[in-house]
Amino acid sequence: MADRPVRAAVIGAGVAGILAVIELRKAGISNVVCYEKGDRIGGTWRDNSYPGIACDVPSHVYSYSFAPNPEFSRMFSPGQEIQEYLERVTDDYGVRPHLRLGDEIKRATFANGVWSLETAAGDVDDYEIVIAATGVLHHPKQPAFDGLDDFRGDVFHSARWNNDVELEGRRVGVIGTGSTAIQITGALVDRVSHYELFQRTPQWVMPMENRPFSDDQKATFRDRPEQLEELRDFLETTFAENFADAVVDAESEQLAQIEETCRAHLYGQVFDPALRAQLEPDYRAACKRLVVSGDFYQAIQQPNAKLVTSSIEHIEPRGIRTDDGRLHELDVIVLATGFEVDRFMRPMEIFGLGGRSLADVWADGPVAYLSVSMPEFPNLFMLNGPNGPVGNFSLIQVAEIQMAYIMKLVSRLQSGASQEIHATERAMREHEELRIEAAKSTVWVTGCNSWYLDDRGIPAAWPWKFSRFREVMAEPDLAAYQS
Ligand code: NAP
Repeated sequence: MADRPVRAAVIGAGVAGILAVIELRKAGISNVVCYEKGDRIGGTWRDNSYPGIACDVPSHVYSYSFAPNPEFSRMFSPGQEIQEYLERVTDDYGVRPHLRLGDEIKRATFANGVWSLETAAGDVDDYEIVIAATGVLHHPKQPAFDGLDDFRGDVFHSARWNNDVELEGRRVGVIGTGSTAIQITGALVDRVSHYELFQRTPQWVMPMENRPFSDDQKATFRDRPEQLEELRDFLETTFAENFADAVVDAESEQLAQIEETCRAHLYGQVFDPALRAQLEPDYRAACKRLVVSGDFYQAIQQPNAKLVTSSIEHIEPRGIRTDDGRLHELDVIVLATGFEVDRFMRPMEIFGLGGRSLADVWADGPVAYLSVSMPEFPNLFMLNGPNGPVGNFSLIQVAEIQMAYIMKLVSRLQSGASQEIHATERAMREHEELRIEAAKSTVWVTGCNSWYLDDRGIPAAWPWKFSRFREVMAEPDLAAYQS
C-alpha cells in the first residue's frame, strides 16, 4: 500500500535541523518546511563568532556520517569552517528550498491529528509531524551583576559577540572559565593591551594538540574515502572508550588517567606556585564539562594577562569591582557565563492532546522519554532533547542516532500503521527512575557545580555508556509508545 502523504515541520536549522530535513526527504516526505528564526542556518555556529571559536570534538566526528569532509584543515576545526561545511551540506543535500529563514514559531497546537504552527508573523500552517531541533546551548545566561548597565565601555555575551567593537590595544575582561572563556583567552590575550580573566571556579584543562591536516592527507581523504571512514571510526571508538564511558563511572581507571593528564598539563606549563594553586581545581576532572585547550596556560601567563580570583562585587562605569575592594578598569567586558540549558523548545508555547501545555509539563524541569518523545504530545519528536548525551559528545552524531530512531516512528505514520505516536507516561517515568539512579555513579555528582546539574542536583544527561545509547536507540520499543 502506498504511503499516505504527510507534511513535516522542522524547527531550527542548526546541525540537527539540517539533518532532519535531509532524513525526512530521504524517506520520501517532500512536504518539509524548516523554520529558522535566524537569518542563516548554522545554529550554534552561526550564533557564536567569538575569537578562538573551534570545536573541541574532532572535526571528522563532528560532521555528518553521510557527508564526510576531506577538506577540514585541522583535527579540531575553527567555527567558521564548520559553518561553511554546514552551508555546503545545506546546498548539496537540497535543504535550502525547505528553509524559512527569519520565521520564528511562537505556538504549536495539536488537534485532530494535526499540529498547527503559528509564526511570529501570524502565519499558521498545519503538519502531521513536527521535529524540534531547537538546540541545547542556545539561550545566553545573563548574570545579574549590580551596575552592569552602568558600565561605560562595551559589554556583550560570548554568544552575541559584537564584531564592531575594536579590541586591539584595549583592556578586556572576560567573566567565566568554561570552554568558551578558555578558547577566548587563547585567542585574545595577544591582541589586547590588557586582559583579565574573572574566575569563579578553576577548570581542569585537557591538553590538545591541534595538528593541521597536510595537503597530502587531505588528498588521500578525497581520493580514498575509506581512509577517512577509518579515521572517523578510530576517533569514535577511542573517544567512547577513553572518555564517554569513563565519565559515567566515577571509579573508572580511565577517569583517574584523565585527571592525571590534566594535572601534568597544569604542572608542566604553570611554574608560579601561587598561580598554579589558583588554577588547580579542588574537584575531580570531568565533573564539570571537561575543557580542552592547548594554549590556555601559556596565554594566561603572558605579561599583559591576569587571572582574577576575587569575587565580583559589582560593576561600575569604569570596570569591575571585586570583593577585595579593587577596581579592575576595563574598556570591554565579555560575559562568557554560559547558557540557560533547560529551555529547549521554550519559550515556544506548545499544546498537546487536550490542550496540555508544555510549560506546565516542564514546570519542574524538562523531561522526555529517551530525549525524543513526550506523553500527550503526539508526532512531536525532539533532537538533542532533554537528558540525552551532551557535553563533550558530537551532537551531530547524537542527532543522527536519534533521527534514525525517530524515522522508524515516522514510517509508521507514513504507512498509516499509526495515526498518533507518543511515549506513554509510564515509559517516561520508568526511564526517568532508571536514569536518576544511574546518574549516582557518574563523575558529574562527585562534588562540583556545573550546567549538567538540574535544580535537584541531578545531571541532565545520559548516564550510561555510549554503547547503551546506540543499543537502546537502534529500534523503538513500541510497548513504550501509545500509537
Ligand atoms: P559554562 O561552561 O556554563 O561556563 C560559564 C562560566 O561562567 C563558568 O566558569 C561559571 O563559573 C561562570 N559564571 C557564570 N555566572 C557567573 C557569575 N554570576 N559570576 C562569575 N562567574 C560566573 O559556559 P560556556 O563556557 O559557554 O560553555 C558551555 C558549554 O558549551 C560547554 O560546556 C560545552 O558543552 C559547549 N562549548 C563547546 C565548545 C566546543 O569546543 N565544543 C566550545 C565552547 C562551548 P562557575 O564554574 O563557578 O559556575
